[in-house]
Amino acid sequence: MNLATWVERNGRRRRDAPALAVGDEVHATWAQFAERVAAAATGLRDRGLAPGDRVAILMRNRPEYLEAQFAAWHAGLIAVPVNARLHREEIAYVLGHSGTSLVLTDEEHLDDVGPLQESVESVRSVLVVPGPGWDALLGADAMPLVDRAADDPAWLFYTSGTTGRPKGATLTHGNLLMASLSYYADIGPVAEEDCVLHAAPLSHGSGLYGLPHVAKGAASVFPASGALDGPELLTLLARWRGMSFFAAPIMVTRLAGDPALAGADLSGLKTIIYGGAPMYLADLEQALETFGPRLAQIYGQGETPMTITGLSMADHADRDHPRWRARMQGVGFPRTDVEVRVVDLDDGELPPGEAGEVVVRGRVVMAGYWDQPEETAETMRGGWLHTGDVGSFDDDGFLTLHDRSKDLIISGGMNIYPREVEEALMTHPGVRSVAVVGRYDPEWGEAVVAFVVPDDPAPTAADLDRTCLDRIARYKRPKEYHFVEALPTNNYGKVLKRELRQRFTDGPPPQQR
Ligand code: AMP
Repeated sequence: MNLATWVERNGRRRRDAPALAVGDEVHATWAQFAERVAAAATGLRDRGLAPGDRVAILMRNRPEYLEAQFAAWHAGLIAVPVNARLHREEIAYVLGHSGTSLVLTDEEHLDDVGPLQESVESVRSVLVVPGPGWDALLGADAMPLVDRAADDPAWLFYTSGTTGRPKGATLTHGNLLMASLSYYADIGPVAEEDCVLHAAPLSHGSGLYGLPHVAKGAASVFPASGALDGPELLTLLARWRGMSFFAAPIMVTRLAGDPALAGADLSGLKTIIYGGAPMYLADLEQALETFGPRLAQIYGQGETPMTITGLSMADHADRDHPRWRARMQGVGFPRTDVEVRVVDLDDGELPPGEAGEVVVRGRVVMAGYWDQPEETAETMRGGWLHTGDVGSFDDDGFLTLHDRSKDLIISGGMNIYPREVEEALMTHPGVRSVAVVGRYDPEWGEAVVAFVVPDDPAPTAADLDRTCLDRIARYKRPKEYHFVEALPTNNYGKVLKRELRQRFTDGPPPQQR
């Protein structure tokens, strides 16, 4: 099934209902959205593109983004949503690697993207959206939907590259259909009068979670500011009900602390789906206080689009559970449509309580990495997606993630999971955020080092040491504290531990994995 079927269908069924909106203004009804998609599809094909060709979409979140994406699918093309905040060199890499022929970009990104027409061989043209070229596409006659099979690629999802060159996870129409169905199964049903708010980049989680809403004929709403703070959320909630949105933990934490939301009427807010990086318990407790039981956590990867495990809204609300606190530090139960295991280095399944690599199997898992057969074979060995994340199940089948294997610290032969140390440090009210990494140590192999963004009043290293001693084993506590103004993050808000490790220039790199 071609995913663009959803737009075509809702164009008939929900003709006059809002499909795309900016703030409280409707940009397109479903009938208009469907017309634009079918016309732009013709326009794309008229530019010489054939089914299977790649079209990159690089723009800020805006309604035209979804028009472009669904037009590409309608025409049988493969969309390559590119994170709009990438550096020009990174963009060039993604375009070249994916063999993109046409780039759809907006005025804001033209300076970065325009010149790539000359330097990236595959790129034949760059079209500015919105703009006269795009209008010309929209003026074409509608074309019939191109037939797509479940294993036809739909979306090349370039990984966020926290560990080197991004890889293009090839997501098929079937993968994205499965991810959407499992949203209904595990996060919640979507009604046609609901809406999804695109407060995070469409090239990542927000785009993926938008799909089950498009399928149901719910509106896709874009904050007018392009970002989102408490007052804007309240304005949007005054117009739109049944609202859900995806946000990185860092963004949830920021919103939760926004004074405008304290005690505000949030009845129109349905779900905030957070994930993509760890959410620390102290932050989660604050978020639950602000938002009530409207939070759902997901653990996923581009390779298995945001679908490995989930901590449902009901799990969050179940405060009487004897292990509620422990659970809130985990990532929940396997999603309905996947099998999840924890394995050792030889891919042998480990029993509950033992930590190993998390592997996943199911119809949501990518077809492979685009044009990287060796990396695909390595990552998909034995038919299981190897996530590179270290986790362990408890007896109930609840998964806790420790860290990515490369972030594990081995000190004096003991494994130390930074997440555990970070959780301990976050309980100190003087810690706003923290990242723990290993530093080369001639005696211990590695030593634990904490980078702390202090709050006001700032704690001393001795205060933090005491906090750790009260909560975790002695050997796990940091040997050094570095107080910093901010932690380095990538464009999706993930802390770049690699960059922190690079700050230590003495000795060999802590781990070469
Ligand atoms: P990406 O493919 O860019 O979304 O990155 C996926 C990685 O983000 C996973 O392999 C995990 O390391 C991390 N991640 C995703 N969701 C969570 C979560 N809920 N908690 C902790 N880490 C997460």
